[in-house]
Amino acid sequence: MKFLRKLLVPSYSRRADYDSLDSTSSHYSFPCPTCSATVAFSFADAIRHCYIWEGEIDQINVNAIKDYFEMNIVGKSPDGGWPSVFIVECNSCRARFMIYSGVSETSNSVYRVVIQSIAEISQPE
Ligand SMILES: [Zn+2]
Repeated sequence: MKFLRKLLVPSYSRRADYDSLDSTSSHYSFPCPTCSATVAFSFADAIRHCYIWEGEIDQINVNAIKDYFEMNIVGKSPDGGWPSVFIVECNSCRARFMIYSGVSETSNSVYRVVIQSIAEISQPE
């Protein structure tokens, strides 16, 4: 897997994209840079991958991902949440994107999600 380009750069000051208490939209979307189709995923996906993503990816790639997104030693995302990483695909042209989010559980089963970075990645070899 290779990183091709960053569509969104991590930020310390980005506001939450989702808060399960008051968000009306359960999905995040962005235009595919290749074909302009809308690529969408649910915040529930970001929350679901939060504690398990490192186990879903082999260790060499986990380290490459941490370097690429400049995750710190403590392992928290810039917004103070826990990192969540997963891959979405453009339904139109099959371009692949790695989504890096910060997820915080602000109280029991109440989640806050900040989409920290979106990177286009190469097709699987
Ligand atoms: Zn596309």
